[in-house]
Amino acid sequence: MLYRGRFAPSPTGPLHFGSLVAAVSSYLEARVHNGEWLVRIEDLDPPREVPGAAQGILRSLERFGFAWNDEVVCQSTRAEAYMEALAKLDGLNQTYPCACSRKEILAANGGRPGLPKIGPVYPGTCRNGLPPGRTGGATRVRVDDASIDFDDAVQGLYRQNLATEGGDFVVRRRDGLFAYQLAVVVDDAEQHITNIVRGCDLLVTTPRQVWLQRLLGLTTPLYMHVPVAVNADGEKLSKQTGATAVDDGDPPATLTRALEFLGQNPPVALARGSVADVWGWALDHWRAIYIPRRRQVRFDTV
Ligand code: GLU
Repeated sequence: MLYRGRFAPSPTGPLHFGSLVAAVSSYLEARVHNGEWLVRIEDLDPPREVPGAAQGILRSLERFGFAWNDEVVCQSTRAEAYMEALAKLDGLNQTYPCACSRKEILAANGGRPGLPKIGPVYPGTCRNGLPPGRTGGATRVRVDDASIDFDDAVQGLYRQNLATEGGDFVVRRRDGLFAYQLAVVVDDAEQHITNIVRGCDLLVTTPRQVWLQRLLGLTTPLYMHVPVAVNADGEKLSKQTGATAVDDGDPPATLTRALEFLGQNPPVALARGSVADVWGWALDHWRAIYIPRRRQVRFDTV
């Protein structure tokens, strides 16, 4: 089967170092497997979108010398496919309307916030019907009290109990927007993605995606979650922690740093070569086994 990888940035700001690392690792994995590499803009959430960010990210990718297959797909054009998937889940009696607010769910958890990107465990309030007087806002998918595990190519075996580590989850938000979990699964399948390489912050969301793939009868791709860059305080480099856009004014130097972060040990002189030199070296030397088998790696010089 042809290897198909992808890079799926959300246009919430310029390309930052963490996204560059995801782009570099997914690209090299695809290339060394003689595969294809696609770019998908995950513009699902207009309130969080920064105008011009999608074009800015694509421009940076070009400056860094990435070449992608097929047209760039934007999730904002895919509502019909997501509706179809929701209808299918509904037909399986796997979804229900939920009226609970974030505050209510947090209170039911005694204020415990739960896993990052997952949140507090849904207490099941609306599972068997909306409480009297409440009207449904969001759509949730039912999960079983079962563990999902998969063998991540960098992180090893990862296991999560869907019921106790998050519970039934939202597939369509109360404001009508589709949830990332649903959209990513539908699009990865539509684009025949065989291998997903992305940042480790998304590791915890993968069991939910595997669950949706099973319900929708879709193939589960192979996963590789690369470490996330954190600062000295252990905080993920993001806009919130003041991480700035990657310097696309000096692509060879920045790409070399990304390779270094990924444990590839590039020669120092590579940073002073051309973009073509960097990719030439990287394609010859890329070894996924050198990627640090950790969820986070401290990296100050970004
Ligand atoms: N759009 C997601 C993000 O930028 C990535 C989704 C994915 O790679 O599955 O965090």
